[in-house]
Amino acid sequence: MSNPFDNALRQLEKAISHLKLSESQIERLKYPEKIITVNFPVKMDDGKDVIFHGFRVQHNSVRGPYKGGIRFHPQVDMNEVKALAFWMAIKCAVADIPMGGGKGGVEVDPKKLSKGELERLSRAYVQAIVRDIGPEIDVPAPDVNTTPEIMKWMVDEYIKFKVKSEKLKLTEKEKSKLMGTFTGKPVEYGGSLGRTEATGRGGYYILMTLLKKLSLKKRYGDKLTVAVQGFGNVGYYIAKFLYEEGFRVVALSDSQGAIIVGNLNKDNLNPEAVMKVKKNLGSVDDMKGVRTISNDELLELPVDILVPAALENQITGENAGKIKAKVILEMANGPTTPEADEVLYKKDVIIVPDVLANSGGVTVSYFEWEQNLHMQKWSEEDVNGKLKKKMESALHKVFEVSQKEKVDMRTAAFMVAIKRITSST
Ligand code: NAD
Repeated sequence: MSNPFDNALRQLEKAISHLKLSESQIERLKYPEKIITVNFPVKMDDGKDVIFHGFRVQHNSVRGPYKGGIRFHPQVDMNEVKALAFWMAIKCAVADIPMGGGKGGVEVDPKKLSKGELERLSRAYVQAIVRDIGPEIDVPAPDVNTTPEIMKWMVDEYIKFKVKSEKLKLTEKEKSKLMGTFTGKPVEYGGSLGRTEATGRGGYYILMTLLKKLSLKKRYGDKLTVAVQGFGNVGYYIAKFLYEEGFRVVALSDSQGAIIVGNLNKDNLNPEAVMKVKKNLGSVDDMKGVRTISNDELLELPVDILVPAALENQITGENAGKIKAKVILEMANGPTTPEADEVLYKKDVIIVPDVLANSGGVTVSYFEWEQNLHMQKWSEEDVNGKLKKKMESALHKVFEVSQKEKVDMRTAAFMVAIKRITSST
């Protein structure tokens, strides 16, 4: 398995080779400003304390507070969190929002915990990093296996700590500001309308703008086919928005396995119906009237658009040659390795890079933070309208640089971001 942080640095070096930067500017881009490692006890339902291991990596804050999700996963490791924090710094700059890059993770399989244990773990993790976060310092959010409910527990724990340790009596305004320490909260608990769908919706806006720019619908026909790997928050919403737009969703998957329609040339999966089955029975695999395939096979299907929306390192030097999609919309972070990038570029596969494709999530997180800081509530229409504008402008800028500099869109996105970051120092 390739190391995601090495992959991130290789992507950075490729972009740097097209720019004129000083040694110190390069070093600052490469290394995190701060790495926090925590080991903290959580009381299990049987009364025993178990020690959990976690991280928070704060990569770069020159454009604003660190910003990035918290991942609960058994295979979370430092190199992964470092890569994810680095990509967040690039992503915030690509989306042109005034925030830096951070990421957190806890080594845990949340499916093995009771709800009470999950809540105690979430609160204990906040206690462990409490002095390093805050609305103007570092603003975490959900990522793989973390939900709005978990954000609610986390922000509650943070505010409790502030009130107790600093003996504060908070006004409504001060409380609202402190709520801005976490984004992706439930709407009734300081969250923003539109945040849950935002990553999928942002990817949908980006893809539609690109398809129009390249006249791809004219070239490939109106009913473009889509396969989505990973059917969680991001995978579900991107599949739903594309289905509603008239795309034909032919395959979906989760960690248990993948499903594919009976006839690739005419059938369609309704993501809402598949989600109902997943919620009731546990996996997309439990859907009736479809064929099952492996996650590897899903990646190699003859579809127009492939959407990796699960984890890193899915498209590698080994399977890139077998990819048949014309466009890869990277909704997951780091799904394509640098080796695969080379192979796919030569095959003229268009890769919409993660730092652009999935930047809708952090953009609406930023909107949530803004609303908390100024004690406002924006309408869903307002949020979606602002998101659309941001996504279209990010896509246009990256596309323009990629055409002008004759580089792939990932390199172009990095170039746009690096210019913005280095000009802020
Ligand atoms: P999630 O936990 O809601 O869903 C993850 C999905 O991936 C689940 O359906 C899971 O079963 C599936 N999965 C896990 N391993 C798999 C495998 N090997 N093969 C196929 N499916 C697998 O997480 P999410 O929030 O949807 O995040 C998915 C990806 O999107 C991650 O890379 C994350 O970093 C990225 N991302 C998320 C957001 C966000 O707002 N949630 C924003 C930007 C990027």
